[in-house]
Amino acid sequence: CGIVGYIGKRDVAPLLLEGLQRLEYRGYDSAGIVITSPKSAGLKMVKAKGRVRDLEARVPKRFAGTTGIAHTRWATHGAPSDENAHPHLDPENKVAIVHNGIIDNASELRAKLVADGVVFLSETDTEVLTHLIARSQADTLEEKVRQALKLVEGTYGIAVMHAGFNDRIVVARNGSPVVLGIGEKEMFVASDIAALVAHTRQVVTLDDGEMATLKADDFRTYTTEGSTTTATPTTVEWEA
Ligand code: GLU
Repeated sequence: CGIVGYIGKRDVAPLLLEGLQRLEYRGYDSAGIVITSPKSAGLKMVKAKGRVRDLEARVPKRFAGTTGIAHTRWATHGAPSDENAHPHLDPENKVAIVHNGIIDNASELRAKLVADGVVFLSETDTEVLTHLIARSQADTLEEKVRQALKLVEGTYGIAVMHAGFNDRIVVARNGSPVVLGIGEKEMFVASDIAALVAHTRQVVTLDDGEMATLKADDFRTYTTEGSTTTATPTTVEWEA
């Protein structure tokens, strides 16, 4: 339902929680956040059924990080619950994903993964993507995501983090909006411009079939087939 992400130098948790609040008007049933920082190996996650304030109440006092992605969920596969809230992490806590949309062939993919010994932690369609990315043997996060997306049918706006590639967030769009916010040595991503405009007016809207890599001081866009696309930021007018 709603996605917000950030990579830069600021304390990321308050920033993302505030971004989620701005998406609250869309309605949702649960929320979650995962963060990391260049110095910390590993991902830290909190999720909660309910409103953003229920999530906020669970975030520990020390929850420091400078990169993160957050989500508000409108359940399509699996009841609203803590477990089914996004982000979804693989059992080794390497890959974290937030997803808007519906993976149509999730039950087939899930059955194959389960037959292969994968243990699922939620009932969502989204979690198949977590495992597909985690199990990819590709060398780069971009390629891992691309390989996983080749196997799924359906709609998605996704943002992905990986403990082994914690200098970046990789995002992709097919039928569910993804907007990049371009800042000064910081980058934002959201499913809705409303979550960005407090921080930057320079935006790039992804097309269907497009992906992007966000690093603190640069971004690039390309197709799910891997060819580079040109993305010139446009300035949005916004009445606060
Ligand atoms: N299909 C996913 C789920 O049920 C994502 C729903 C959404 O767009 O919030 O968890």
